[in-house]
Amino acid sequence: TVDTTRELLLSRIRDVRDYPKPGVVFKDITPLLADPRAFGALTDALADLCVKHGATKVVGLEARGFILAAPVAIRAGLGFIPVRKAGKLPGATLSQAYELEYGTAEIEVHAEDLNAGDRVMVIDDVLATGGTAEASLELIRRAGAEVAGVAVLMELGFLDGRAKLQPSLAGAPLEAL
Ligand code: AMP
Repeated sequence: TVDTTRELLLSRIRDVRDYPKPGVVFKDITPLLADPRAFGALTDALADLCVKHGATKVVGLEARGFILAAPVAIRAGLGFIPVRKAGKLPGATLSQAYELEYGTAEIEVHAEDLNAGDRVMVIDDVLATGGTAEASLELIRRAGAEVAGVAVLMELGFLDGRAKLQPSLAGAPLEAL
């Protein structure tokens, strides 16, 4: 059931205090990845969301989003598209800069991977400020594709990433397991 899946997933997430810097509680998913029952349940739940929202492609956000999105794409029978930090993709790319707490970051996608007619589900482990997910939605739209939704394992509610994401979601769902 949904409740027992939620309990299983919660029990496999480790809080690491003051990592990567003082004051941050890092949500470590490596215990979940090491447990095939939990990793399988997470994969199934995310794949169900892809089907439910009519996705035709799955985007994973570097780096932990790759680990989750790849098996989800296979399970849902959809293609996997990597959105990477700038400078890592060899082909022609679209790139999108976004604000960090200090400075800016940039993510990229292969331009040929997303096209008009695609409905894209974005997958990551943690939604924090929402900056990375928001930039990925810009990339998807600029490529001419449609956003099917954003699906994450966890949303850090106190950072209000959900509110930040609303305009770029434009009615598409944000699902947090
Ligand atoms: P944001 O752009 O602020 O939503 O943060 C996005 C990225 O940072 C996500 O890909 C997360 O994997 C990672 N991240 C941010 N905060 C945390 C946290 N407290 N624990 C684990 N990962 C985090």
